[in-house]
Amino acid sequence: MNVDSPPGRLDEPGTPRERVILQQVADFCRAEVDPLCEKWEQEEQLPRAIFTKAGKLGLMGLMAPPALGGLGVSFTAYTRIIVELAQHCAALALDIATHNSLCLGHILTFGSEAQKRTCVPPLASGEWLGAWALTEKQAGSDTGSIETTAAPAEAGWELTGHKMFITQGERADLLVVMARTGTTASGKKEISAFLVRKEQVHPVRRIPTHGMRASETSEIRFERAQAQLLGERGYGRENALATAAASASRRSPLALPKQRWTPRRATPASAGSSAIRWRTSKQFNGSSPTRPPNSRRRNC
Ligand SMILES: Cc1cc2nc3c(=O)[nH]c(=O)nc-3n(C[C@H](O)[C@H](O)[C@H](O)COP(=O)(O)OP(=O)(O)OC[C@H]3O[C@@H](n4cnc5c(N)ncnc54)[C@H](O)[C@@H]3O)c2cc1C
Repeated sequence: MNVDSPPGRLDEPGTPRERVILQQVADFCRAEVDPLCEKWEQEEQLPRAIFTKAGKLGLMGLMAPPALGGLGVSFTAYTRIIVELAQHCAALALDIATHNSLCLGHILTFGSEAQKRTCVPPLASGEWLGAWALTEKQAGSDTGSIETTAAPAEAGWELTGHKMFITQGERADLLVVMARTGTTASGKKEISAFLVRKEQVHPVRRIPTHGMRASETSEIRFERAQAQLLGERGYGRENALATAAASASRRSPLALPKQRWTPRRATPASAGSSAIRWRTSKQFNGSSPTRPPNSRRRNC
């Protein structure tokens, strides 16, 4: 990921490499997306195969470093690619953006080296789909109202609670989930981030939306779901908001100064918690240029 270059403007042409990638994305959309986007909207489903194809083009690991299987483009190039996708199929753009900047972005910015080595390659190739779960019924803008709890288990953590409006919540192979891990010394909820595998998720319902209907928006539930701490305990809310803010501001999450998003006071419970590991590491190993000016865009 190129974090050293200053953020570019979306109307600037980008580097030669970025222009080639953008042309490939435009070609991909014309060949693979335009003919089917309306059908996907009617069926309210994006086929798994389109993410596999997107993965082959590098679209599922846009900002991930090449050493971990990503394309390693700048955040400006990433934004241009999402805009290009959205001009053809907004639902696909939403899912790919959530996968890249929220799920992968959170792991790349705050995950341990071991978590990155295990999770990034399958996410970046499109073998795994990623989701990111912060919102709850009573916790939208008010992220501090999260009620999903995480309790230390024999080896790892167990999550219990509900999440709402989660993009790809049911079908994602790996979810980044924010949950309450206790109470801080000042009486506030201590929130931490976790990695949760698909098998641990109970789908509740698909939530109908008025637009981007092909994108799955779901309510999901966890019942003592096995989870692995992601980042430092007690920093989940700050890290989640940093990830969300970066995804909305054209700023690379990897370029974020971590200190800026961390609370002033570390909780005593933070110490040693990063030593907690999955019950079995197998759980994470799994199976294993811009458009011509006159071209007609399809935006479902
Ligand atoms: C299609 C879709 C996909 C989504 N995908 C995800 C996902 O993948 N993961 C995830 O975690 N969440 C997801 N969400 C949830 C989304 O992030 C929340 O909807 C958002 O955080 C707002 O929460 P809310 O809907 O509860 O609205 P509320 O928090 O109830 O806010 C409603 C309105 O009130 C305003 N408001 C709230 N508080 C204040 C205040 N104090 N002062 C002034 N105005 C205020 C808000 O700006 C907003 O306009 C998704 C939502 C949608 C619609």
